[in-house]
Amino acid sequence: MKLFRWIALTAGIAGSLTLSAGGFDDTFSRLKTNLSKAELYTFLYAMPKAADLHHHSGGCWQMDSLFQVATNPARNGGNRFYTRVRAGLCDGDTNAWRQFQTIAGYTWKTLPECQQKEYAALDELTAVQREAFINSLRLDKPGEGRNEFFEEIWPRFGAMGRSLEVFLEMTVETMKRYGAEGVRYLEPQTIPLGFVLADGTAVDPDEMHRRLKARLEQPDARATGVEVRWQVVVLRFTPIAEKKIEEAYDFVSRHRDLWVGINMAGREDNDKGHPRRFLETYRRMRHKYSDVGLAIHAGEVDEPNPHMRDTLLLGATRLGHGNNVLTDDDLVLHLRSGIAFVEINLVSNLLLEYVTNYSQHHFPEMLRLGIPCGLSTDDSGMWDSGMTDEYLTAVTEFNLTWDELVGCGRNSLKWSFAEPGLKQRLLDDYDRSVKAFEEKWSTGDPKARLGEVHPVAYGYAARRWGIKY
Ligand SMILES: [Zn+2]
Repeated sequence: MKLFRWIALTAGIAGSLTLSAGGFDDTFSRLKTNLSKAELYTFLYAMPKAADLHHHSGGCWQMDSLFQVATNPARNGGNRFYTRVRAGLCDGDTNAWRQFQTIAGYTWKTLPECQQKEYAALDELTAVQREAFINSLRLDKPGEGRNEFFEEIWPRFGAMGRSLEVFLEMTVETMKRYGAEGVRYLEPQTIPLGFVLADGTAVDPDEMHRRLKARLEQPDARATGVEVRWQVVVLRFTPIAEKKIEEAYDFVSRHRDLWVGINMAGREDNDKGHPRRFLETYRRMRHKYSDVGLAIHAGEVDEPNPHMRDTLLLGATRLGHGNNVLTDDDLVLHLRSGIAFVEINLVSNLLLEYVTNYSQHHFPEMLRLGIPCGLSTDDSGMWDSGMTDEYLTAVTEFNLTWDELVGCGRNSLKWSFAEPGLKQRLLDDYDRSVKAFEEKWSTGDPKARLGEVHPVAYGYAARRWGIKY
């Protein structure tokens, strides 16, 4: 029967591509075989994708949109940003040269005149400079690996990342683009301390929370259909990281309507931030606080090490990346019992060279051993990609079935730190929208259906798969 249906459908694909209303796994397998990469991207763009549990505010901002917001005073609180385009104009200048390091107008005004001339206002960049500026915030060239990302792009981001108005607008822009590709829940990581207004006035974390909440209640944010809960991220290798963890617990516990968890990030190859360092701090915090989610980067490394198991000991129920999981047999067995969720970031791992190709990636083994895991984007603005790129990578590199793909989405919602009522609503909505999607794509001509989708693909899809719309 199965063979008969396959033959009938194969014949159908050559003609009208009419599909049966059988199990959607069968339908999906035929689509994988018969659609081009661009068509498959379009199909995956349209499918419901539940949640992205691992991404960094700033890193996930689409850089063209950021340029628009950063050069529009009506959207950025009246700020005018300046970016470094020259060096060596001043005698005795000790400012290290970093092209396109960006500062706020209030900082630029305090510089000596010769230093001011080393910067250009963002809104006065030539077309060539503008393109180079935007690309300087992306890993878009061969050879730009983790050093460019950690040591150049993040510092270059500079004042744009700490402007409260830019942050608020880009948060909504990010909700719009994720919402358009079927993501319904986000849990970005950010630091609520250190935001400033356009005149340089510091915004305390409680005020930041109030402004963020108000912005998320605006009609354009609500219209995205995307819910957002936040994680406070602590830079793990700094000398004051323990103090920052304590502050994060205090902040989350006082703002539980939006803030649901704590993360620790920063290069894991900097040993100063190793997980065991924080064991006493997290244990002490649990004497005082309950129900604060812990999702901590672990296993974003090249070598076998105990970071993942030590991070479980810290109390994390979600581990970010988990690239070295298969180097620790006991850990694999523990994780199979479902004690933690692994946040998989496929594009990130390739671009930051934690794998040189996907045959080295541990994701399919985790997925097919039943270790809870799901797909996320990490820093999609800096990769110039989106959630659909993660899905297309998973499908094309590891031949994910429809049920596996849907399971990744469902798992992400289940392991989110969303409050129980919201989580249940998101799960119900997800199940309903997946069912409706399956019904829609099980009938008629899928190629005609593709024409109804209006996907947005970015530079990563163009470079990797030649996809341009
Ligand atoms: Zn990350």
